[in-house]
Amino acid sequence: MTEKRFLDGKILVKVGDITEEKIDAIVNAANSALLGGGGVDGAIHRRGGAKITEECREIRRTAFPHGLPTGKAVITSGGNLPARFVIHTVGPVYGTNGGKDAALLADCYKNSLELAAENNLRTIAFPSISTGVYDYPKGEAAKVSSNAIRDFLSKTDVINEIRLIFFSEPDARLFLEHHNLS
Ligand code: ADP
Repeated sequence: MTEKRFLDGKILVKVGDITEEKIDAIVNAANSALLGGGGVDGAIHRRGGAKITEECREIRRTAFPHGLPTGKAVITSGGNLPARFVIHTVGPVYGTNGGKDAALLADCYKNSLELAAENNLRTIAFPSISTGVYDYPKGEAAKVSSNAIRDFLSKTDVINEIRLIFFSEPDARLFLEHHNLS
């Protein structure tokens, strides 16, 4: 699949492994413990190395002793990754939030983008948050994420490029069928 661009070229949709993105920040679909796990989280901690895990441990100790709440975002360095920073956000486990799944998933995108902007980062890459182990239906997630990103871009121009990285071609195609970017 060729890469696709939307919103004056600011949004790039592509297939790939997010740990290979050379960019200001990649977003991690973390869990509330912030200590690594399966899926994209495991890949980021493995490739990024101990520095990221250590910084996460410190964030837990100082700011979130009970874990990072769903929808919130925190930032660490990129460790050994090509990305300069990692923004860790916790997606909703689908069907366990009393009807608030969509609002919480939108928060993940909004809070991650706000944190990037606060740190003067210009480029950021997202995986498809919650659509793996957390079971969020991919078509619905495409609507929620694209709306949240479009809303954010209508309010600020700090971010120049948002890359949406899908782990497989069918996943990217599903996004392209359901998004609200154009
Ligand atoms: P969650 O627990 O939020 O569902 P997962 O890591 O299980 O997180 O999955 C989120 C999405 O990330 C899934 O669509 C999965 O296919 C994708 N994914 C897994 N590994 C990578 C990777 N290295 N790069 C990009 N996307 C990935």
